[in-house]
Amino acid sequence: MTDKGLFGQFGGSYVPEDLEKVLQVLADEFEKAKQDPTFIQEFKEVLAEFVGRENPLTYARNLSENQGGAKIYLKREDLNHTGAHKINNAIGQILLAKRMGAKRVIAETGAGQHGVATATACAMFGIECIIYMGKHDMKRQALNVFRMELLGAKVVSVDAGQGRLKDAVDAALGDLVENYQNTFYLLGSAVGPHPFPSMVKFFQSVISEESKRQIVEKEGKLPTAVIACTGGGSNAIGAFAHYMEDEAVRLIGVEPAEAPSLTEGVPAVIHGFKCLTLLDEEGNPKPTYSIAAGLDYPGIGPEHSHLKETGRGEYVTVTGQQALEAFKVLSETEGIIPALESAHAVAHAMNVAKELKQEDIIIVNLSGRGDKDVQQVFEMEHGSKE
Ligand SMILES: *Cc1c(COP(=O)(O)O)cnc(C)c1O
Repeated sequence: MTDKGLFGQFGGSYVPEDLEKVLQVLADEFEKAKQDPTFIQEFKEVLAEFVGRENPLTYARNLSENQGGAKIYLKREDLNHTGAHKINNAIGQILLAKRMGAKRVIAETGAGQHGVATATACAMFGIECIIYMGKHDMKRQALNVFRMELLGAKVVSVDAGQGRLKDAVDAALGDLVENYQNTFYLLGSAVGPHPFPSMVKFFQSVISEESKRQIVEKEGKLPTAVIACTGGGSNAIGAFAHYMEDEAVRLIGVEPAEAPSLTEGVPAVIHGFKCLTLLDEEGNPKPTYSIAAGLDYPGIGPEHSHLKETGRGEYVTVTGQQALEAFKVLSETEGIIPALESAHAVAHAMNVAKELKQEDIIIVNLSGRGDKDVQQVFEMEHGSKE
């Protein structure tokens, strides 16, 4: 990686000049913050006191024994406050916002999970929070809109364009350019122009910092493979980060077969950065549909694009149907209902485990809990009322 946030040919910052200036200030401030022991200490303290870290690395004994083969461990991001890994990044960026003297935090959200994590962190730090959301997404995610409002955030309906995530991103960027002097844009995944992918990775790396220490304590050795689902790629990059130099550890990202950016995408610039992405005939980001809303993104973080290209990362797809089966298997065998996103990683881990030996270890990053998905799965099984 260079100073400009390049990962091989991917990443970078392809934005208008006025936005570029704002992002440069952010990049400089982030470089200082990550080397400031006081900043790191406060981040660690909030993660401990508010998020509930460190979370366990649970041996999934029943699942492992049923499958045969490798031992499967689960990194329990599902046990974090608000039920997923997204809060790690939201806390880190809010601390940076505070450090930079921001008075308002803005964010965009599609399915609502990043909006809820941002609103939660803003409530905790007493910072004004504005969430941009496409008009259509607001209708589909009415309960998450209400959650954000309960947390004191203002949810702004974006009617422009299709009234979806992309339009919400445009609205949030417009707000940032206009109000950059007092406003911080809190991005939710390891995507977007520099410095966001590096920043999000830094804050999510706590996942593998913990899991590496935990697995060495429990097993006295490193895992054979680390497996995580990829939407934009933030939980996966955090789960991989501290194993990057351990060449023997396989790093496996699992995409939904319905949005396979890495497996079928081509290099292109979307949303201000270059990555492997799915394009339609006109060269625009292709609409995708995954049963897991958090994985529904036509692109992927630049570092994953690079890991794929160099071969350091392996990327595979799992269908919604396979994820749904894994959702049920993990619930029944371990008493843990996973998020549908995480169930993609579980599904692939079950297959990999069978191919490995008993002395092998797999760590699955359980990015979130499934409470949010129970109603959707119910409707898929029993038919929706509508
Ligand atoms: C948002 C989300 C994801 C996907 O986002 P990444 O940035 O790829 O991690 C995965 N799992 C859960 C539970 C999520 O909420």
